[in-house]
Amino acid sequence: MINATRSRSILLVEDDRVQRTLARHSLQHAGYVVTEVADGEAGLAAFSRLAPDLVLLDVVMPGMNGFDVCRAIRSAPGGVDVPVMMMTAHDDVDSIHEAFAAGATDFVSKPLPLALLAYRVQYLLRSSDATRDLRRSERRLDDAQRAARLGYWDWLAADDQLSLSPMSRTLFGEAGEQARSFADILRVVHPLERAPMERALQRVSLARVPLSIEFRLAGASDDPVWIHARGWADTDPSRAELTVTGTFQDISDIKKRDAQTHYLAYFDPLTGLPNRVSLTSQLDQKLAAARRHRRSLAVLVLDLDNFKQVNETLGHAMGDRLLSLLAARLRQCVRSEDEVVALTADAVEPSIARMGGDEFALLLSDILSSADAERVAQRVLEAVRHPVVLEGREVVVSASAGLAIYPTDGEHSIDLLSHADSAMYAAKAAGGDCFAFFSAPRRSAAESRFSHEMALRRAIERDQLTLQYQPKMEIATGRIVGLEALARWNHPEFGLVSPVHFIPIAERTGIILAIGEWVIRTALAQIAAWRRNGVGDVPVAVNLSARQLNEPDLPERIARLLAEFDLNAGLLEIEITESAIMDNLELALETTRNLRRLGCCVAIDDFGTGYSSLAYLKQLSVDHLKIDRAFVIDLTRNAEDGAIVQSIVDMANTLGMRVIAEGVETKEQFNELAIRGCHVVQGYLVSKPIPADAVPLLLGEPAQVARVNMFALKSAPTVSCDAPHPC
Ligand code: C2E
Ligand code: CA
Ligand code: CA
Repeated sequence: MINATRSRSILLVEDDRVQRTLARHSLQHAGYVVTEVADGEAGLAAFSRLAPDLVLLDVVMPGMNGFDVCRAIRSAPGGVDVPVMMMTAHDDVDSIHEAFAAGATDFVSKPLPLALLAYRVQYLLRSSDATRDLRRSERRLDDAQRAARLGYWDWLAADDQLSLSPMSRTLFGEAGEQARSFADILRVVHPLERAPMERALQRVSLARVPLSIEFRLAGASDDPVWIHARGWADTDPSRAELTVTGTFQDISDIKKRDAQTHYLAYFDPLTGLPNRVSLTSQLDQKLAAARRHRRSLAVLVLDLDNFKQVNETLGHAMGDRLLSLLAARLRQCVRSEDEVVALTADAVEPSIARMGGDEFALLLSDILSSADAERVAQRVLEAVRHPVVLEGREVVVSASAGLAIYPTDGEHSIDLLSHADSAMYAAKAAGGDCFAFFSAPRRSAAESRFSHEMALRRAIERDQLTLQYQPKMEIATGRIVGLEALARWNHPEFGLVSPVHFIPIAERTGIILAIGEWVIRTALAQIAAWRRNGVGDVPVAVNLSARQLNEPDLPERIARLLAEFDLNAGLLEIEITESAIMDNLELALETTRNLRRLGCCVAIDDFGTGYSSLAYLKQLSVDHLKIDRAFVIDLTRNAEDGAIVQSIVDMANTLGMRVIAEGVETKEQFNELAIRGCHVVQGYLVSKPIPADAVPLLLGEPAQVARVNMFALKSAPTVSCDAPHPC
């Protein structure tokens, strides 16, 4: 016997009295509360009166049959979910079909298995309870999602197949109803946010970086719809295709509230201008951009000369009025078109702020020289000088301005602001109604550096940079196994400038980022050209600076370039100096890992000079170690250098890395390196760095290869050759 823990009610609809009584007995015995009726009409009436937990329903009855009753129950209030078990004649498959078609949950065939009936009922109730709970929790989740305006999505990145939950569709309006891909979604994203969104999608699909991005929908700019998208790649490695799962949430209300709070925190209510806090944060942003794009900017601080007098003679209300009039004028003034000062080029509100009292500040981004800043200062002072009419009285005021320029006068907002401030005081000290640069003598020194930097900055555009290539030769075979690309600056005045002179400047000013990108692009274009011209596939190594290592999207950018030239990543080797690695070990670990995942070879350059430890080498797991030239120079004379080289080779062999010796100039050095088991040499002995058009000759020159070959065989009988290496 089973016991229904809580008395559940069963409606039993059966015309056969004997069957009915037997069934009732058996169910009551199991603890159910049973109501029995003898026909369909009575069954329906009892159903709406009692709302039973389960209906046990006969098929064949006089009057309304069981199928009709079942259908009627399903459309009655509360009848959708109630489990209905139909009693069909044994083996009557058609009836079973029809029962399900009419909405039955289950069936039991007659004669009723009385001993089991209560169990069948119990299981049916249990499963319907579970279904009901699930529906309820789905409904709750649905309600919660509706209230939070949150929907979810699944994305098959490879074929851009997107499936959206109903709420996700609702968030995107009509476009959401039609959307089948992220491309469809991107079409309704605000144009300004499309590119960041695309990048975020690439990051999650290529590098599995979790996605979290806020974007506006295109259209209604005064009351924009903001959506926060989050997504994370499915980490199940057994799935062939990458799936990204995520959510969209409408955050427009939060944004609106944020905007109000932001306004109060960052704007001056009197003039409507940004306040000091706001200006500082804008300056930080502009500095970051200037650093990135290797541009200059100026900070101008402006202070009225005779404001105190205005306040005293005309009263504070008039003083306030004057300030807001001047604020409007300043706005006007920096907005006016001026080709040189690209203040409007950003298409954003130029940055003017009220710093407090009668002090204002302007940020002049993208200036090309201090003359640009000077011009704006003149114009601003002139604008202030124009008479203002206050309550019918003409008032004339003047101001003093101070200028500080990034990067010459300071790298950080705090320095630039305080330097501009002190320049402004210098202008005041000079009598006011004028402007001053921060510390004139220092400025001229800084300016010459500035012009030097400017020239380097323009070197790429003016096509003054070139690459030379230096071959690397495998000792065991005498084959050229790769080239190292080395930058040269073809200076109009000084001729071919060594990287030793300009790379450090480029590093310090950040220009190295543009140069680095150019180097990689040029090297790849060259590899592609050699391939096209039948020279063959030649792996090329490029040098990476510490700054480039700090760019988190470097592997992605390299991947894009490789795709652009349709080249295998194995053809690109990246050389990173040991010191750059030690500067930021964690990032270096991550970047080298990502580069190798991409398929590029990674080499540690200048190895032996950076105080590295075996522990980190193990973690780095790079492909090559390049022994610094310092250990090669005295190799044949200094036993200690020999021992160092030997231990580097031994360690590299243990870690499965290949060793390249740099700066090999003599046969003696070569022999020593060969004996010590070094794998590859690079240096003047093989060849100096040569222009690209000399490379085919070098690669095809049988004499040279033969000479080196013989040489290698003769002097290095003990050399063991590793398995062929991708690089
Ligand atoms: P590095 O990466 O260690 O490059 C090897 C340097 O040694 C090259 O100088 C090369 O010309 C020189 N060299 C090669 N064989 C011999 C030899 O047998 N004897 C002697 N005495 N020198 C040899 P280079 O081209 O002047 O480059 C100097 C450094 O400038 C490079 O050192 C590298 O750190 C940096 N550099 C060059 N091109 C780039 C670049 O595109 N990006 C970055 N970030 N750095 C670069
Ligand atoms: Ca190098
Ligand atoms: Ca080196």
